[in-house]
Amino acid sequence: MALITVKDLALGYENRAVVSGLDFEVESGDYLCIVGENGSGKTTLMRTLLGLQEPISGQILFGDGIRKNEIGYLPQQTQVQKDFPATVAEIVLSGCAGSLGNRFFYGKKEKQKAAENMKRMEIESLKKRCFRELSGGQQQRVLLARALCAAERILLLDEPVSGLDPKVTAEMYSEIKKLNDGGITIIMISHDIDSCIRYAGKILHLGENIFFGSKDEYLRSRMGKTFTQEGGAIA
Ligand code: ADP
Repeated sequence: MALITVKDLALGYENRAVVSGLDFEVESGDYLCIVGENGSGKTTLMRTLLGLQEPISGQILFGDGIRKNEIGYLPQQTQVQKDFPATVAEIVLSGCAGSLGNRFFYGKKEKQKAAENMKRMEIESLKKRCFRELSGGQQQRVLLARALCAAERILLLDEPVSGLDPKVTAEMYSEIKKLNDGGITIIMISHDIDSCIRYAGKILHLGENIFFGSKDEYLRSRMGKTFTQEGGAIA
């Protein structure tokens, strides 16, 4: 069974559907890019997948023993988050909050996990630094390490390269690809279709029409040809 199966989903606010008739599957090891213009419902879908808001109708089924609190989430950064007055180590460790259960304090296991993920994201040397003093790229590495503490099988990334310069953007995409090559399922929201589909295996395009399928199918589709440079070149 797929990790996530979405069936005939309608989502939105106060019964006003933003997206309806949505069907797609996320298999273990997938790299799915969710694209679409502003206001097409990408963030609403992400919030619904995370269980932060109820769907209007339809189903989201989690398979292969996955529960929704096992999805690591890298939110879109707001100015308040960028200015957060905590150290890198504290922020990464806070990703382990879900495994505390009834305990108030982080134990050896959580601290070890945080250390491993700081190493993985190559931010060990920054661990005592204050988050708000870091560059945008360093901040995203910290937040990825935090998301990895929360979950190691699926990561949901909301506009992870927004505001980063081209060099750091390329590094971030390559870091995310490495995680995917290591077996982590990636679901990424992006408004930058051309860069994000370079790495993706599957595309979900939201908008007036909905497309879900492999990247190759997308590039050959009318939507892919309309919305991407690569697809346009195939036309
Ligand atoms: P995207 O992430 O693709 O830009 P969103 O999911 O943020 O799109 O928004 C989809 C639609 O839902 C937009 O029309 C937006 O105005 C509306 N919307 C977003 N958040 C809310 C909310 N809290 N209450 C009511 N409508 C909302």
